Amino acid sequence: MNLVPAHHRFLREAIRLAEEAEQHGNLPIGAVITLEDQIIARGMNAIWQPSLALTRHAEMEALRDVPAHMWPRSRQMTLFTTLEPCLMCAGAILLHQLGGLVFGSTDPIGGAGACLDSLPPYFRQAYSMMQWRGPALPTECDPLYARAADYERRRGSSPPIDLADA
Ligand SMILES: [Zn+2]
Repeated sequence: MNLVPAHHRFLREAIRLAEEAEQHGNLPIGAVITLEDQIIARGMNAIWQPSLALTRHAEMEALRDVPAHMWPRSRQMTLFTTLEPCLMCAGAILLHQLGGLVFGSTDPIGGAGACLDSLPPYFRQAYSMMQWRGPALPTECDPLYARAADYERRRGSSPPIDLADA
């Protein structure tokens, strides 16, 4: 897919956030939200550190970082994330009625793309009004995804008891 230069810049900032998340002991996934070609919110994965919080995905963190007074303009916002959103994040993006999504890498295991054709009516309506694009930067984002999958595989599907010491 074709990205304009500004989109590359936003995805690169998401990649930087992903690498920062990894340095903090979390999964290398990052996200930014833009409005009028300006970054207005940032988020990085924080599911393991500083404490177990399995819904603290990069996209959720970015959505929470949007200044409240800007939400009336959500249709003009685009969320850039290094990895295809999961079901939870896709639902949150649709509930917030964002105008666009650009993801860097496809997630064939947990990505919401598998069910976008069979959404409940409310969500289908929101989805029909937005642009959902990706994979936009697989050469740079696939390695992040590979590392995220590896970390998850090593930690197991359920949180280990000694998580606080990890
Ligand atoms: Zn998610």
